[in-house]
Amino acid sequence: MSAEHKILAVFGSTGSIGRNTLEVVRRHPEHFSVRYLTGNSNADLMIEQVKEFRPAAVAVTDGEARRKVRDAVGEQAEVLDGSGLTELAAREDYHTMVSSLVGFAGLLPTTEAIRAGKHIALANKETLVVAGEVITGLLREHGVQLVPIDSEHSAIQQCIVGEPAQSVARIILTASGGPFRGRSAAELEHVTPADALKHPNWSMGSKISIDSATLMNKGLEVIEAHWLFDVAPGDIDVVVHPQSIIHSMVEFSDGSLKAQLGVPDMKIPIHYALTWPDRIAADYERADMARIGTLTFEEPDRETFPCLQLAFDSLQAGGTAPAVLNAANEVGVAAFLRGDIPFPGIPAVIADALDRCDIRPADTLETVVEADREAREFAEASLPHYSSVTTTRT
Ligand code: NAD
Ligand code: MG
Repeated sequence: MSAEHKILAVFGSTGSIGRNTLEVVRRHPEHFSVRYLTGNSNADLMIEQVKEFRPAAVAVTDGEARRKVRDAVGEQAEVLDGSGLTELAAREDYHTMVSSLVGFAGLLPTTEAIRAGKHIALANKETLVVAGEVITGLLREHGVQLVPIDSEHSAIQQCIVGEPAQSVARIILTASGGPFRGRSAAELEHVTPADALKHPNWSMGSKISIDSATLMNKGLEVIEAHWLFDVAPGDIDVVVHPQSIIHSMVEFSDGSLKAQLGVPDMKIPIHYALTWPDRIAADYERADMARIGTLTFEEPDRETFPCLQLAFDSLQAGGTAPAVLNAANEVGVAAFLRGDIPFPGIPAVIADALDRCDIRPADTLETVVEADREAREFAEASLPHYSSVTTTRT
Protein backbone atom coordinates (compact mmCIF):
# COMPACT_ATOMS: atom_id res chain seq x y z
CA MET A 1 0.00 0.00 0.00
CA SER A 2 1.48 3.37 -0.89
CA ALA A 3 1.03 6.12 1.66
CA GLU A 4 -0.97 9.21 0.73
CA HIS A 5 0.83 12.46 -0.07
CA LYS A 6 0.50 14.82 2.90
CA ILE A 7 0.30 18.59 2.76
CA LEU A 8 1.87 20.16 5.84
CA ALA A 9 1.62 23.37 7.83
CA VAL A 10 4.87 23.72 9.78
CA PHE A 11 4.39 26.03 12.74
CA GLY A 12 7.77 27.26 13.98
CA SER A 13 9.54 26.28 10.76
CA THR A 14 12.62 28.37 11.57
CA GLY A 15 13.24 26.51 14.85
CA SER A 16 15.12 23.32 15.56
CA ILE A 17 12.14 20.96 15.10
CA GLY A 18 10.88 23.06 12.18
CA ARG A 19 14.22 22.81 10.34
CA ASN A 20 14.40 19.07 11.01
CA THR A 21 10.85 18.70 9.68
CA LEU A 22 11.76 20.51 6.47
CA GLU A 23 14.77 18.21 6.11
CA VAL A 24 12.36 15.23 6.30
CA VAL A 25 10.24 16.91 3.58
CA ARG A 26 13.34 17.64 1.48
CA ARG A 27 14.29 13.96 1.57
CA HIS A 28 10.76 12.71 0.78
CA PRO A 29 9.15 15.09 -1.73
CA GLU A 30 6.99 12.22 -3.02
CA HIS A 31 5.32 11.97 0.41
CA PHE A 32 5.21 15.54 1.69
CA SER A 33 4.78 19.11 0.57
CA VAL A 34 4.40 22.36 2.47
CA ARG A 35 1.51 24.80 2.30
CA TYR A 36 2.08 27.02 5.34
CA LEU A 37 5.10 28.06 7.40
CA THR A 38 5.42 30.30 10.44
CA GLY A 39 8.34 31.94 12.18
CA ASN A 40 9.15 34.70 14.60
CA SER A 41 12.25 36.80 13.93
CA ASN A 42 14.63 34.86 11.65
CA ALA A 43 13.74 36.62 8.38
CA ASP A 44 16.69 35.33 6.35
CA LEU A 45 15.87 31.70 7.06
CA MET A 46 12.16 32.23 6.38
CA ILE A 47 13.02 33.80 3.00
CA GLU A 48 15.17 30.78 2.11
CA GLN A 49 12.40 28.42 3.20
CA VAL A 50 9.81 30.24 1.08
CA LYS A 51 12.07 30.07 -1.97
CA GLU A 52 12.76 26.38 -1.51
CA PHE A 53 9.41 25.01 -0.30
CA ARG A 54 7.01 27.44 -2.04
CA PRO A 55 4.34 27.69 0.68
CA ALA A 56 1.10 29.51 -0.21
CA ALA A 57 1.36 31.68 2.90
CA VAL A 58 3.59 32.31 5.90
CA ALA A 59 3.02 34.06 9.22
CA VAL A 60 5.89 36.05 10.70
CA THR A 61 5.22 37.45 14.18
CA ASP A 62 8.09 39.94 14.49
CA GLY A 63 7.28 43.19 12.64
CA GLU A 64 10.73 43.97 11.29
CA ALA A 65 11.28 40.38 10.14
CA ARG A 66 7.86 40.40 8.47
CA ARG A 67 8.67 43.52 6.42
CA LYS A 68 11.94 41.94 5.31
CA VAL A 69 10.22 38.70 4.30
CA ARG A 70 7.50 40.62 2.43
CA ASP A 71 10.06 42.64 0.46
CA ALA A 72 12.04 39.54 -0.46
CA VAL A 73 9.27 37.14 -1.44
CA GLY A 74 6.98 39.58 -3.28
CA GLU A 75 4.06 37.74 -4.87
CA GLN A 76 5.50 34.30 -4.15
CA ALA A 77 3.67 33.89 -0.82
CA GLU A 78 1.12 35.71 1.27
CA VAL A 79 2.89 37.11 4.38
CA LEU A 80 0.70 37.41 7.47
CA ASP A 81 1.37 38.86 10.92
CA GLY A 82 0.99 37.10 14.30
CA SER A 83 -2.78 36.82 13.90
CA GLY A 84 -1.98 34.60 10.92
CA LEU A 85 -0.98 31.82 13.33
CA THR A 86 -4.56 30.95 14.25
CA GLU A 87 -5.88 31.98 10.84
CA LEU A 88 -3.58 29.61 8.94
CA ALA A 89 -4.17 26.82 11.48
CA ALA A 90 -7.89 26.94 10.68
CA ARG A 91 -7.54 26.88 6.86
CA GLU A 92 -8.97 23.90 5.04
CA ASP A 93 -6.36 23.07 2.46
CA TYR A 94 -3.69 21.24 4.43
CA HIS A 95 -3.61 17.84 6.13
CA THR A 96 -1.13 17.84 9.01
CA MET A 97 -0.03 20.56 11.40
CA VAL A 98 3.50 20.17 12.68
CA SER A 99 3.11 21.99 15.99
CA SER A 100 6.65 23.11 16.72
CA LEU A 101 6.33 26.57 18.18
CA VAL A 102 8.05 26.85 21.54
CA GLY A 103 6.16 27.45 24.79
CA PHE A 104 2.65 28.63 25.51
CA ALA A 105 2.53 30.36 22.10
CA GLY A 106 1.81 26.93 20.60
CA LEU A 107 -1.47 26.42 22.44
CA LEU A 108 -3.97 28.50 20.46
CA PRO A 109 -2.79 27.60 16.93
CA THR A 110 -2.76 23.90 17.89
CA THR A 111 -6.27 24.20 19.32
CA GLU A 112 -7.47 25.82 16.08
CA ALA A 113 -5.97 23.02 14.01
CA ILE A 114 -7.73 20.39 16.15
CA ARG A 115 -11.02 22.24 15.74
CA ALA A 116 -10.41 22.23 11.99
CA GLY A 117 -9.99 18.43 12.11
CA LYS A 118 -6.29 18.32 11.17
CA HIS A 119 -3.89 15.54 11.98
CA ILE A 120 -1.46 16.89 14.59
CA ALA A 121 2.24 16.03 14.79
CA LEU A 122 3.02 17.52 18.19
CA ALA A 123 6.44 18.77 19.28
CA ASN A 124 5.05 21.63 21.38
CA LYS A 125 4.71 19.71 24.66
CA GLU A 126 3.65 22.89 26.51
CA THR A 127 0.24 22.61 24.79
CA LEU A 128 -0.52 19.34 26.62
CA VAL A 129 1.16 20.48 29.83
CA VAL A 130 -1.00 23.57 30.25
CA ALA A 131 -4.25 22.35 28.71
CA GLY A 132 -4.17 18.54 28.74
CA GLU A 133 -7.80 18.17 29.78
CA VAL A 134 -9.09 20.66 27.18
CA ILE A 135 -6.94 19.24 24.39
CA THR A 136 -7.85 15.60 25.02
CA GLY A 137 -11.53 16.63 25.10
CA LEU A 138 -11.18 18.48 21.78
CA LEU A 139 -9.34 15.54 20.18
CA ARG A 140 -12.24 13.24 21.11
CA GLU A 141 -14.88 15.74 20.03
CA HIS A 142 -13.31 16.32 16.61
CA GLY A 143 -12.08 12.76 16.04
CA VAL A 144 -8.55 14.05 15.58
CA GLN A 145 -5.38 11.97 15.86
CA LEU A 146 -2.40 13.55 17.59
CA VAL A 147 0.96 11.82 17.23
CA PRO A 148 3.84 12.99 19.44
CA ILE A 149 7.18 14.10 18.00
CA ASP A 150 8.93 14.23 21.37
CA SER A 151 11.35 11.29 21.14
CA GLU A 152 10.28 9.77 24.49
CA HIS A 153 6.60 9.83 23.60
CA SER A 154 7.25 8.60 20.09
CA ALA A 155 9.09 5.68 21.73
CA ILE A 156 6.17 4.93 24.05
CA GLN A 157 3.69 5.15 21.18
CA GLN A 158 5.79 2.67 19.20
CA CYS A 159 6.02 0.32 22.23
CA ILE A 160 2.27 0.18 22.84
CA VAL A 161 1.13 -0.32 19.24
CA GLY A 162 -0.93 -3.51 19.16
CA GLU A 163 -1.01 -3.92 22.95
CA PRO A 164 -4.26 -3.90 24.97
CA ALA A 165 -4.55 -0.55 26.81
CA GLN A 166 -5.08 -2.20 30.22
CA SER A 167 -1.81 -4.15 29.87
CA VAL A 168 0.35 -1.01 30.27
CA ALA A 169 1.63 -1.06 33.87
CA ARG A 170 4.31 1.63 33.87
CA ILE A 171 5.91 4.16 31.60
CA ILE A 172 9.62 4.72 32.05
CA LEU A 173 10.85 7.96 30.50
CA THR A 174 14.56 8.13 29.84
CA ALA A 175 16.46 11.38 30.43
CA SER A 176 19.99 12.21 29.33
CA GLY A 177 20.57 14.05 32.61
CA GLY A 178 21.56 17.18 30.69
CA PRO A 179 24.87 19.05 30.78
CA PHE A 180 24.99 19.26 34.59
CA ARG A 181 24.48 15.60 35.48
CA GLY A 182 26.57 14.79 38.57
CA ARG A 183 27.04 18.44 39.63
CA SER A 184 26.28 19.56 43.20
CA ALA A 185 23.79 22.28 44.15
CA ALA A 186 26.72 24.57 45.07
CA GLU A 187 28.30 24.09 41.64
CA LEU A 188 25.02 24.98 39.91
CA GLU A 189 24.98 28.44 41.52
CA HIS A 190 27.62 29.71 39.11
CA VAL A 191 26.79 28.01 35.81
CA THR A 192 26.21 30.37 32.88
CA PRO A 193 23.64 30.28 30.06
CA ALA A 194 26.44 29.22 27.68
CA ASP A 195 27.24 26.21 29.94
CA ALA A 196 23.55 25.30 30.17
CA LEU A 197 23.03 25.49 26.40
CA LYS A 198 25.67 22.80 25.74
CA HIS A 199 23.52 19.67 25.65
CA PRO A 200 25.57 16.47 25.50
CA ASN A 201 23.46 14.57 22.91
CA TRP A 202 20.83 16.76 21.26
CA SER A 203 20.99 20.07 19.39
CA MET A 204 17.79 21.99 20.26
CA GLY A 205 16.29 25.45 20.71
CA SER A 206 17.46 27.50 23.70
CA LYS A 207 14.32 27.12 25.86
CA ILE A 208 14.23 23.31 25.74
CA SER A 209 18.02 23.19 26.19
CA ILE A 210 17.69 25.07 29.49
CA ASP A 211 14.71 22.85 30.41
CA SER A 212 16.96 19.83 29.82
CA ALA A 213 19.64 21.29 32.10
CA THR A 214 17.14 21.89 34.96
CA LEU A 215 15.33 18.54 34.31
CA MET A 216 12.13 20.55 33.79
CA ASN A 217 12.04 19.10 30.28
CA LYS A 218 11.57 15.65 31.84
CA GLY A 219 8.97 17.05 34.22
CA LEU A 220 7.02 18.54 31.30
CA GLU A 221 7.33 15.18 29.54
CA VAL A 222 5.86 13.36 32.55
CA ILE A 223 2.78 15.60 32.28
CA GLU A 224 2.72 15.17 28.49
CA ALA A 225 2.85 11.35 28.91
CA HIS A 226 0.02 11.42 31.44
CA TRP A 227 -2.31 13.12 28.93
CA LEU A 228 -1.14 11.26 25.84
CA PHE A 229 -1.32 7.75 27.28
CA ASP A 230 -3.84 8.15 30.12
CA VAL A 231 -1.36 6.84 32.71
CA ALA A 232 -1.56 7.88 36.39
CA PRO A 233 1.34 10.05 37.66
CA GLY A 234 2.35 7.24 40.08
CA ASP A 235 2.85 4.90 37.12
CA ILE A 236 5.31 7.21 35.34
CA ASP A 237 8.99 6.83 36.25
CA VAL A 238 12.08 8.66 35.08
CA VAL A 239 15.49 7.05 34.68
CA VAL A 240 18.66 8.83 33.63
CA HIS A 241 20.27 7.20 30.61
CA PRO A 242 23.18 9.40 29.52
CA GLN A 243 23.71 7.81 26.08
CA SER A 244 20.18 8.77 24.83
CA ILE A 245 19.90 5.57 22.77
CA ILE A 246 16.86 4.09 24.53
CA HIS A 247 14.24 6.79 23.98
CA SER A 248 11.80 5.38 26.57
CA MET A 249 10.29 2.12 27.81
CA VAL A 250 6.94 0.58 28.70
CA GLU A 251 6.47 -2.08 31.35
CA PHE A 252 3.50 -4.39 30.80
CA SER A 253 1.29 -6.17 33.37
CA ASP A 254 3.13 -9.48 32.87
CA GLY A 255 6.50 -7.88 33.74
CA SER A 256 7.69 -7.64 30.15
CA LEU A 257 9.51 -4.44 29.25
CA LYS A 258 9.63 -2.93 25.75
CA ALA A 259 12.03 -0.18 24.71
CA GLN A 260 12.47 1.80 21.51
CA LEU A 261 16.04 2.62 20.48
CA GLY A 262 17.84 4.68 17.89
CA VAL A 263 20.48 7.38 17.46
CA PRO A 264 19.48 10.75 18.97
CA ASP A 265 18.17 12.37 15.77
CA MET A 266 14.80 14.16 15.88
CA LYS A 267 14.22 13.45 12.18
CA ILE A 268 13.35 9.86 13.10
CA PRO A 269 10.42 10.65 15.47
CA ILE A 270 9.33 13.50 13.15
CA HIS A 271 9.28 11.07 10.21
CA TYR A 272 7.32 8.55 12.31
CA ALA A 273 4.72 11.17 13.36
CA LEU A 274 4.30 12.30 9.73
CA THR A 275 4.03 8.83 8.25
CA TRP A 276 1.98 7.22 11.07
CA PRO A 277 0.24 4.74 10.90
CA ASP A 278 2.47 3.60 8.02
CA ARG A 279 6.21 3.13 8.19
CA ILE A 280 7.95 4.59 5.19
CA ALA A 281 11.56 3.62 4.52
CA ALA A 282 14.17 6.31 5.17
CA ASP A 283 17.94 6.43 5.41
CA TYR A 284 18.53 8.25 8.69
CA GLU A 285 21.63 7.21 10.61
CA ARG A 286 21.39 3.70 12.06
CA ALA A 287 22.33 2.82 15.65
CA ASP A 288 25.50 0.69 15.60
CA MET A 289 25.05 -1.16 18.89
CA ALA A 290 28.53 -2.71 18.96
CA ARG A 291 30.09 0.73 18.54
CA ILE A 292 27.76 2.27 21.17
CA GLY A 293 28.89 -0.57 23.44
CA THR A 294 27.42 0.41 26.81
CA LEU A 295 24.03 1.62 27.93
CA THR A 296 23.84 2.85 31.53
CA PHE A 297 21.03 3.91 33.85
CA GLU A 298 20.83 5.84 37.11
CA GLU A 299 18.28 7.55 39.35
CA PRO A 300 17.66 11.25 38.64
CA ASP A 301 18.98 13.58 41.36
CA ARG A 302 15.68 15.14 42.42
CA GLU A 303 17.22 17.26 45.19
CA THR A 304 19.83 19.03 43.12
CA PHE A 305 17.34 19.41 40.23
CA PRO A 306 14.03 20.29 41.97
CA CYS A 307 12.15 21.04 38.71
CA LEU A 308 11.37 17.37 38.11
CA GLN A 309 9.60 17.02 41.47
CA LEU A 310 7.82 20.37 41.00
CA ALA A 311 6.35 19.03 37.77
CA PHE A 312 5.16 15.80 39.46
CA ASP A 313 3.68 17.90 42.29
CA SER A 314 1.82 20.15 39.85
CA LEU A 315 0.39 17.12 38.05
CA GLN A 316 -0.80 15.69 41.39
CA ALA A 317 -2.31 19.06 42.34
CA GLY A 318 -4.15 19.08 39.00
CA GLY A 319 -6.31 21.87 37.55
CA THR A 320 -4.31 24.91 36.47
CA ALA A 321 -1.23 23.91 38.54
CA PRO A 322 0.71 22.63 35.47
CA ALA A 323 -0.19 25.87 33.62
CA VAL A 324 1.25 27.87 36.53
CA LEU A 325 4.35 25.65 36.54
CA ASN A 326 4.81 26.17 32.82
CA ALA A 327 4.30 29.95 32.87
CA ALA A 328 6.69 30.45 35.79
CA ASN A 329 9.22 28.19 34.07
CA GLU A 330 9.05 30.23 30.83
CA VAL A 331 9.59 33.43 32.83
CA GLY A 332 12.42 31.87 34.85
CA VAL A 333 14.20 30.42 31.80
CA ALA A 334 13.99 33.73 29.89
CA ALA A 335 15.34 35.60 32.95
CA PHE A 336 18.22 33.13 33.31
CA LEU A 337 19.07 33.47 29.60
CA ARG A 338 19.13 37.29 29.98
CA GLY A 339 21.46 36.93 32.96
CA ASP A 340 18.88 38.34 35.40
CA ILE A 341 18.73 35.31 37.71
CA PRO A 342 21.17 32.47 38.46
CA PHE A 343 20.42 28.88 37.44
CA PRO A 344 18.95 27.82 40.86
CA GLY A 345 16.61 30.84 40.59
CA ILE A 346 14.57 28.96 37.96
CA PRO A 347 13.12 26.31 40.32
CA ALA A 348 12.82 28.96 43.06
CA VAL A 349 10.61 31.19 40.85
CA ILE A 350 8.46 28.19 39.91
CA ALA A 351 8.03 26.91 43.48
CA ASP A 352 7.00 30.38 44.60
CA ALA A 353 4.40 30.71 41.81
CA LEU A 354 2.98 27.24 42.58
CA ASP A 355 2.70 28.21 46.26
CA ARG A 356 1.08 31.57 45.75
CA CYS A 357 -1.04 31.49 42.57
CA ASP A 358 -4.65 30.32 42.77
CA ILE A 359 -5.21 26.84 41.34
CA ARG A 360 -8.57 26.30 39.64
CA PRO A 361 -10.16 23.59 37.50
CA ALA A 362 -8.59 23.65 34.02
CA ASP A 363 -11.61 22.57 32.01
CA THR A 364 -11.84 25.51 29.61
CA LEU A 365 -9.32 27.19 27.36
CA GLU A 366 -10.19 30.54 28.95
CA THR A 367 -9.26 29.39 32.49
CA VAL A 368 -5.96 28.06 31.19
CA VAL A 369 -5.16 31.29 29.33
CA GLU A 370 -6.05 33.31 32.43
CA ALA A 371 -3.97 31.06 34.74
CA ASP A 372 -1.01 31.47 32.36
CA ARG A 373 -1.39 35.27 32.38
CA GLU A 374 -1.65 35.50 36.17
CA ALA A 375 1.28 33.16 36.82
CA ARG A 376 3.44 34.99 34.28
CA GLU A 377 2.70 38.33 35.94
CA PHE A 378 3.38 36.90 39.39
CA ALA A 379 6.64 35.28 38.30
CA GLU A 380 7.87 38.44 36.50
CA ALA A 381 7.21 40.48 39.63
CA SER A 382 9.05 37.93 41.79
CA LEU A 383 12.26 37.96 39.69
CA PRO A 384 14.08 40.67 41.70
CA HIS A 385 13.87 38.38 44.77
CA TYR A 386 15.96 35.78 42.94
CA SER A 387 18.59 37.97 41.33
CA SER A 388 21.32 36.65 43.63
CA VAL A 389 22.27 33.02 44.18
CA THR A 390 20.18 32.83 47.37
CA THR A 391 17.43 30.40 46.43
CA THR A 392 14.89 31.32 49.09
CA ARG A 393 12.72 34.41 48.84
CA THR A 394 14.47 37.39 50.43
P1 NAD B 1 13.15 26.71 18.74
O1 NAD B 1 13.32 27.83 19.71
O2 NAD B 1 14.33 26.22 18.01
O3 NAD B 1 12.04 27.10 17.66
C1 NAD B 1 10.82 27.68 18.02
C2 NAD B 1 10.06 28.15 16.79
O4 NAD B 1 8.91 28.89 17.25
C3 NAD B 1 10.83 29.11 15.88
O5 NAD B 1 10.37 28.93 14.57
C4 NAD B 1 10.40 30.48 16.40
O6 NAD B 1 10.50 31.46 15.39
C5 NAD B 1 8.97 30.24 16.78
N1 NAD B 1 8.53 31.09 17.89
C6 NAD B 1 9.16 31.31 19.06
N2 NAD B 1 8.43 32.11 19.86
C7 NAD B 1 7.32 32.43 19.16
C8 NAD B 1 6.17 33.23 19.44
N3 NAD B 1 6.02 33.87 20.61
N4 NAD B 1 5.21 33.32 18.50
C9 NAD B 1 5.33 32.68 17.33
N5 NAD B 1 6.40 31.91 17.00
C10 NAD B 1 7.37 31.79 17.91
O7 NAD B 1 12.46 25.52 19.56
P2 NAD B 1 12.58 23.95 19.29
O8 NAD B 1 13.76 23.42 19.98
O9 NAD B 1 12.37 23.66 17.85
O10 NAD B 1 11.32 23.43 20.13
C11 NAD B 1 10.00 23.58 19.66
C12 NAD B 1 9.07 22.75 20.53
O11 NAD B 1 9.40 21.38 20.36
C13 NAD B 1 9.19 23.01 22.02
O12 NAD B 1 7.94 22.90 22.61
C14 NAD B 1 10.10 21.91 22.51
O13 NAD B 1 9.89 21.58 23.87
C15 NAD B 1 9.70 20.77 21.60
N6 NAD B 1 10.72 19.74 21.38
C16 NAD B 1 11.90 20.09 20.81
C17 NAD B 1 12.88 19.12 20.60
C18 NAD B 1 14.20 19.47 19.92
O14 NAD B 1 14.99 18.58 19.67
N7 NAD B 1 14.46 20.73 19.59
C19 NAD B 1 12.65 17.81 20.99
C20 NAD B 1 11.42 17.48 21.56
C21 NAD B 1 10.47 18.47 21.75
MG1 MG C 1 12.00 14.72 24.70
